[in-house]
Amino acid sequence: MASNEQFRVQPEDPVSSSGEQDPNCWLSDHSVPRLEPQNLQTYTPDLTESQKAVREAIGKICQKYPDDYWLAREQSKEFPADFYQDLAKGGWLGICRPDKYGGLGLGLAEASIKAECRRHLLSTSTFLVSSRLPNFGTEQQKKKFLEPLMAGRERACFAVTEPDTGLDTLKIQAKAVRNGNHYALSGQKIWITTAQTAQKILILARTTPISRVKKSSEGLSLFYTDLNDNLPIQIAEIEKMGHGAIDSNAVFFDGWKVPARDRIGDEGYDFKLIMHGMNAERILIGCEALGLGYAALRRAAIYSNERVVFGRPIGQNQAIQHPLADSWMNLEAARLMLAQAARMYDDGYESGEYANAGKYLAAEAAFKACERAVMGHGGMGYAKEYHVERYLREVLIPRIAPVTKETICNYIGQTVLGLPKSY
Ligand SMILES: Cc1cc2nc3c(=O)[nH]c(=O)nc-3n(C[C@H](O)[C@H](O)[C@H](O)COP(=O)(O)OP(=O)(O)OC[C@H]3O[C@@H](n4cnc5c(N)ncnc54)[C@H](O)[C@@H]3O)c2cc1C
Repeated sequence: MASNEQFRVQPEDPVSSSGEQDPNCWLSDHSVPRLEPQNLQTYTPDLTESQKAVREAIGKICQKYPDDYWLAREQSKEFPADFYQDLAKGGWLGICRPDKYGGLGLGLAEASIKAECRRHLLSTSTFLVSSRLPNFGTEQQKKKFLEPLMAGRERACFAVTEPDTGLDTLKIQAKAVRNGNHYALSGQKIWITTAQTAQKILILARTTPISRVKKSSEGLSLFYTDLNDNLPIQIAEIEKMGHGAIDSNAVFFDGWKVPARDRIGDEGYDFKLIMHGMNAERILIGCEALGLGYAALRRAAIYSNERVVFGRPIGQNQAIQHPLADSWMNLEAARLMLAQAARMYDDGYESGEYANAGKYLAAEAAFKACERAVMGHGGMGYAKEYHVERYLREVLIPRIAPVTKETICNYIGQTVLGLPKSY
């Protein structure tokens, strides 16, 4: 069993820009495999050299943006543009895209490390959008659309969810009707991340009515097109519980003329092709959840060492210590599963059981870690200054989006266990 001494903050440990110990900073000397509260993942022999390099580089960027930065952005509801530009400068926005379009040409295994390092959710919209364009877009579209995205000159949002259909995505009602060299789009979308600030939108709409297709997964098309104030689109921001720096929106459109050249791929292709990219989304959101979970656990461990009640650090009580140990084990287990899912994705595995299961386990483990961090801080867990209440509000998102835990259980029950479809 480790002594308190081992876990105590070391004088040479990294400090935040304010000169205080930065509990989020796990970056330190990788040659010293110590597990310390601020350094929970130093000892990760399972990482490849390129994953370690990504972790090091992203960790350095993140060090410039401590928790106070994210708290301020949440309160001012301001998109973290400087952080985003720092990612763009290093080419990190295009981590998985080919270098001929301004990307770094790495795999999802490396992108997962990037997502995990950030310890906050940053819409993966850019990733999601850019992952679909290479699969389905023409060479001309890829050049035109990907370069500005990867360079951070443009941002894009991804619009699938609708208020009247929810998780029953194949029933979406937004329609796109071909008329000469354009389509007329009408319908509504909800919860569209960054629609206030994005210049582009990737939107899913039905090009053939559901009554006229053999399978409901047919007749859907994707469009990647401009988003600006001169279009017949209304974008209304949704007031929400947390994650204030990143806007969420209801989007209404009627008679919106979208050039036919902005359609990505063939008209009405099978939704299964779109689903493939969704496995990547599950993995990345799972990794973002892990980032929050580890951040919460780090803070909980530091506080549990420092806070003395009844004449001893609260972390000496097993009622405090054991749940934190349990959270570390569960986060690590989820991390390993997500790493496996990312490797399989990079190897061309198309089925979604590992991506879904990894996202489920990560979101649940991270939620528990955040909740325990709040409770372990006592009253201070409820104070903004310790940041754990913000993590707890934020970590609910990966439990809900892009799919809920029930949806994942439905999928595993049906596809892995061979049980009857339950929805
Ligand atoms: C912060 C945030 C950001 C988001 N960003 C985006 C975005 O950028 N783009 C986008 O397109 N969408 C986005 N979403 C939407 C998100 O993907 C959906 O909220 C999510 O898919 C759940 O859909 P719903 O809200 O319609 O839930 P519903 O479909 O209404 O489901 C409600 C509840 O019922 C349960 N349920 C429904 N059917 C069943 C069943 N058969 N069996 C068991 N349980 C069931 C669900 O699990 C859930 O708990 C975002 C959501 C949030 C909260």
